[in-house]
Amino acid sequence: MRINVLSRIRALLAACFLCLGVVLTAAGITEKARQAPREILGRELEPGQAAVWYLYHSGWAVKTANHLLICDYTEPPKRPTRRSLEFGSIDPAEIVDQNVIVFVSHSHDDHFDPLILDWRAAVKNIRYIWGWEGAGLPQDARFGKERRTITVDGLEILNIYYDFDGIPESAFLIKADGLTILHAGDHGHSKGVANPVFKDNILYLAKKAPRLDLFFTPTYGGEIEAMRALKPRAVFPMHDGGNERQYARFAQKVKALGLDAETGAAEKPGARFFYSQGKLTVF
Ligand SMILES: [Zn+2]
Repeated sequence: MRINVLSRIRALLAACFLCLGVVLTAAGITEKARQAPREILGRELEPGQAAVWYLYHSGWAVKTANHLLICDYTEPPKRPTRRSLEFGSIDPAEIVDQNVIVFVSHSHDDHFDPLILDWRAAVKNIRYIWGWEGAGLPQDARFGKERRTITVDGLEILNIYYDFDGIPESAFLIKADGLTILHAGDHGHSKGVANPVFKDNILYLAKKAPRLDLFFTPTYGGEIEAMRALKPRAVFPMHDGGNERQYARFAQKVKALGLDAETGAAEKPGARFFYSQGKLTVF
């Protein structure tokens, strides 16, 4: 009991730096009090904590205790003129000191922008994980039709495979720094678990991860069944870049169904969330 209270206090203190900007804004001091991404990236996080940025469409950045994970990065049709996590885009100079792992689920251009390969020139510690044969260097990690589990820099990464759109696609289950994360890529199906491949993939994931911390998912079919099986503490709807109001609708649905998960409904690129002790806050 005592340990539980102490660890809650520690988590609260660790979360406080993230709240500062919000408090100052609420006090009407200045909007500029919102913390710059570099400041957030430079802070220490405990295992089990994460700062999460919605980038665009299915793109997310997740800062954990020791890594910065970037999944399915793409940019809006009109490229940004100034890039920063603050606006939901990656400026390599901003993440140069990070231990970066980039995930790409499949080759469709709403999940893979070749621009990500340029980050290699600027960021010393960067690795790429491809959900198919990929487009990077031979030393990158690649997944195919078979399910595999690999270890990269202390992270355990495993894949599921599907070809609902006629091309090879993976989704990644990532165990990183005390967190279990599923980025589903395009893994959803209008028939949900009535589709045998979708069902088998979800059962496999449930076996490998009895409870998810963070679940990033499209919302065009099967996601509610996936939530029931995988019990995420926090769910992040995605795949509606440019139509982000869909995410708030999904949050209402989760609530109406009484599912035991918090929803990180991004309002726009650059929206950010802090995850600690199973709780999600906007900051
Ligand atoms: Zn897609």
